[in-house]
Amino acid sequence: MTAVILDGNALSLRLREGVAAEAAELAARGITPGLAVVLVGEDPASQIYVRNKHKAAQKCGVATFDHKPGSDISEDALLNLVRELNDDDKIDGMLVQLPLPDHIDPEKILDAIDPAKDVDGFHPDNIGRLAQNRARFVAATPKGCMTLLAEAGRDLSGATAVIVGRSNIVGKPMSMLLTNANATVTVCHSRTRDLPAITRHADILVAAIGRAKMIKGSWIKPGATVIDVGMNRDENGKLCGDVDYAQASEVAGAITPVPGGVGPMTIASLLQNTVLAARLRRG
Ligand code: NDP
Repeated sequence: MTAVILDGNALSLRLREGVAAEAAELAARGITPGLAVVLVGEDPASQIYVRNKHKAAQKCGVATFDHKPGSDISEDALLNLVRELNDDDKIDGMLVQLPLPDHIDPEKILDAIDPAKDVDGFHPDNIGRLAQNRARFVAATPKGCMTLLAEAGRDLSGATAVIVGRSNIVGKPMSMLLTNANATVTVCHSRTRDLPAITRHADILVAAIGRAKMIKGSWIKPGATVIDVGMNRDENGKLCGDVDYAQASEVAGAITPVPGGVGPMTIASLLQNTVLAARLRRG
């Protein structure tokens, strides 16, 4: 079997066109959705990610406000910046790019973001709402994964879903989204015993691990839909996912490539959340 490729580039372009249309409607009412991005320090990967967000937002008619304090900013000063952005009427959505320097507690910073502006969906209030199946802002990467699954036309109700990874930003929200969609969900992690025996049962397999090509073709149920969130470098320095794509694409029914799968969906989902925040805040 050769898997259908779930093309995140093409789908994200369509989503961003939808965001642009919504932003144009708001602009006609004199509203420009505003997104503040706080990047502390000079982590190269974060810089690239923030630059891409900036470009995509501008193309969609979303105004961006970048704040780039040095890595020596104190926790208190960063908290003050977050509070200023909470109070700034031009800002509909805000995100603080992770990771933060070691002397800053990320939980303190994320907890300080106004939940109504938390377009990354990391605030406990938004995570709690998602857990209760009354989500407002869903974290961008899991939200993008769900959009990819919808595009794949996969019926999630009653499906067996396995997620490898339980982080607060990907694995856990993904488990809630799939549970809310009536899938039967298993969440695996580094202490899981005999991982391949579990993944082999998955109709839907989501890999969010951070280990290059860890999931082998033999771990995948024939015909499964595989969503690869991982962004790693292989032994030649090439970008690759958590799934061994060459092997998996011979077994799976549908699969996301890396790059060009989940990655572009994350930015599109963030922009969707920003326009939603503008609508909710400004009626
Ligand atoms: P974390 O490091 O926060 O979480 C990784 C998870 O994988 C943990 O739950 C960990 O288990 C589990 N894990 C690690 N090793 C194993 C193993 N050998 N067997 C089973 N489980 C294991 O990572 P993130 O969730 O933040 O990110 C995961 C991947 O997704 C990374 O490659 C990251 O770069 C990528 N990513 C991509 C995005 C995109 O837009 N495409 C956005 C966000 C992330 P335990 O909890 O026990 O430690």
